[in-house]
Amino acid sequence: MRQVLEAGLPALGLDTAAIPALERFAEMLLQRNRVMNLTAITEPRDVAALHLLDSLALISLAGLEDGSAVDVGTGAGFPGLPLAIVRPRLQVTLLDSLGKRVGFLREVCETLGVTNAECVQGRAEEFAAERREVYDWAVSRAVAALPVLCELCLPLVRVGGCFLAMKSSHTEAEIEQAGGAVRILGGRIAWIRDYTIPTTEVVHRVVCVEKVAGTPKKYPRRFAQMKKTPL
Ligand code: SAM
Repeated sequence: MRQVLEAGLPALGLDTAAIPALERFAEMLLQRNRVMNLTAITEPRDVAALHLLDSLALISLAGLEDGSAVDVGTGAGFPGLPLAIVRPRLQVTLLDSLGKRVGFLREVCETLGVTNAECVQGRAEEFAAERREVYDWAVSRAVAALPVLCELCLPLVRVGGCFLAMKSSHTEAEIEQAGGAVRILGGRIAWIRDYTIPTTEVVHRVVCVEKVAGTPKKYPRRFAQMKKTPL
């Protein structure tokens, strides 16, 4: 794990000072994963690359120095918790509908002394009533197809902010299908970038949707409706 992080962080333009905290997070994840379903990735070096470095690749693409970010469907904390660890001036909301996962994240934040992350149990489509158009960034990985994901995430982003969707590299059709949703919800695809996760040959993709106008009040709809009739 350490070797992967020692090689991978500088490759992303990041300092290695965060390694002890990242390692501790990974240890807690693997330990808790024995009794709770948190991740299918169980080799420490794979956790380092496919979870930690993959999450941190967002920084090399988008900076995320400061401001506020919400990680929608964070699960075991990806990508939001590694971002909070290496970006102490970024205020991160880790949002997930599953209470057990959020409870685990609270424990990790407390153990590591991470004070710039807030762990919230809730559904994104309901959370939008509370935190509508306030975040500089929304980020999300492996939660839903892009048209639905845009409806979950874009209402949370302020005009001028961005939603960063982490996707696999074979998503041309999905991105095309999301064109209508992006427009209706007040977004514009600003850029799409592929990256190779350092120390691996795995190529992933980030779609950056800039918020250029307010999201109409009737969105987000209920989740069942989003799934049944995606925008
Ligand atoms: N983002 C993490 C990752 O990449 O490892 C977790 C991905 S996991 C496959 C999807 C997560 O999204 C689950 O933890 C689930 O509870 C959460 N989720 C799904 N729909 C959601 C919603 N509408 N609001 C909040 N969380 C949601």
